[in-house]
Amino acid sequence: MSTPEHDRAVLLRYHEIALKGQNRRWFEDRLEGNVRLLIERGLRAGGDPQARFSGKITRQHGRILIETAWNENVREALCNSFGLSSFSPIRKVPTDHASLIRGAIEEVDAYIRRHGQPSDFRVLSRRSDKVLPETSVELDQLIGGELLRAFPGLKVKLEKPALYVGIEVRRDRSFIWTEKVPGLGGLPVGSNGPLLAMLSGGLDSPVAAIQTLRRGSATRLMHFYGTPFVGEEVLRKVIDLARIVNRYQPKPEPLHVVPFGKLQERIALATSPKLRTVLYRRMMVRIACALAPRLGAHGLVTGESLGQVASQTVENLATINAAATLPIIRPLVTCDKDEIIAQAQRWGSYETSIRPGLDCCTLFADRHPALHSSIDEAEAQESRFPVQELVDEALAGIQVHEARW
Ligand code: ATP
Ligand code: MG
Repeated sequence: MSTPEHDRAVLLRYHEIALKGQNRRWFEDRLEGNVRLLIERGLRAGGDPQARFSGKITRQHGRILIETAWNENVREALCNSFGLSSFSPIRKVPTDHASLIRGAIEEVDAYIRRHGQPSDFRVLSRRSDKVLPETSVELDQLIGGELLRAFPGLKVKLEKPALYVGIEVRRDRSFIWTEKVPGLGGLPVGSNGPLLAMLSGGLDSPVAAIQTLRRGSATRLMHFYGTPFVGEEVLRKVIDLARIVNRYQPKPEPLHVVPFGKLQERIALATSPKLRTVLYRRMMVRIACALAPRLGAHGLVTGESLGQVASQTVENLATINAAATLPIIRPLVTCDKDEIIAQAQRWGSYETSIRPGLDCCTLFADRHPALHSSIDEAEAQESRFPVQELVDEALAGIQVHEARW
């Protein structure tokens, strides 16, 4: 028997720790708004650019309820939403014994038709309102017993059963679910201030940007493009990476592309090869710190990790930081490459990142760059070229590529 659509909804769960008082409202507002936008985005991708999501969204008892049928679009939107611990498509039934039992039997029947007979199951009841006389354990036993009667092939297993039948008892309408999809965790995007992510074409920077989104900061996106010394395939790759990052933020961001090759050439002609990578990086940071406030960003995000390459020793990072006027967030600072690769696979950026394409940092670079630099040395080198003029030129040449996802 199929359930009428108005009895279908999706239940969202989030971690409640640290969500007291005002905090919680703020958190829920962001989460609800993001989910709505992501669902709408999927609807628009379906062909109608004006599509709106009209499903009602309500909050009760530390949960969010979306009044909508379960479909691929809703699933995908929720799978890309930070801030959720899990979510379930649910059926709503009147809060009385007969309806709960009938609903549970029908949901298990539907589950078996979709997935085949599970080896074992257990009922997991939770009472948000204590309107029924039974305790949660008594309800588990009552409904579990009825399910055993209806499906003689089933067995009960309390630890790690193949199927959980969830019951949430509420005052008027209670919820029944058989599927619980894990969420991405983290905090809803927008619950923290925006940052500007520096995206190269490598493995690390998209992971760093997505990790930052996971802590609630929307990320604006920029790339330093080594044109005319690197090919267009590099730009195409970064545009594709930007699109992957945008999957995880409800408002997709455009990519700001800074022409950088000529600037690097100017630096290379004037300076010592050993310090070049650090000098390039200091220029990037200066340009990014000038752009960030225009985009409402409060800091930068990079994919740097301690000791991974010569420019990422503590001394060199300190020299790079000295050129910054905003904080530089480095989410991967203690990760090793295997951990970063695993993250890239999890977020879906790995295949794109390993496409061939030279990063501009390798242009005119020394084969044995300095492992240790000092701010004084860097400043001495920088007296040989017009730093501010090059920064201004770079800013004036920025091209904005429309937001995609
Ligand atoms: P990635 O895999 O992110 O390229 P990496 O290990 O190759 O990192 P570097 O090339 O030293 O390291 O770059 C360190 C960080 O500096 C990058 O993670 C990125 O945030 C930033 N960066 C480097 N090159 C560029 C670029 N062309 N455009 C924007 N940001 C860059
Ligand atoms: Mg790189």
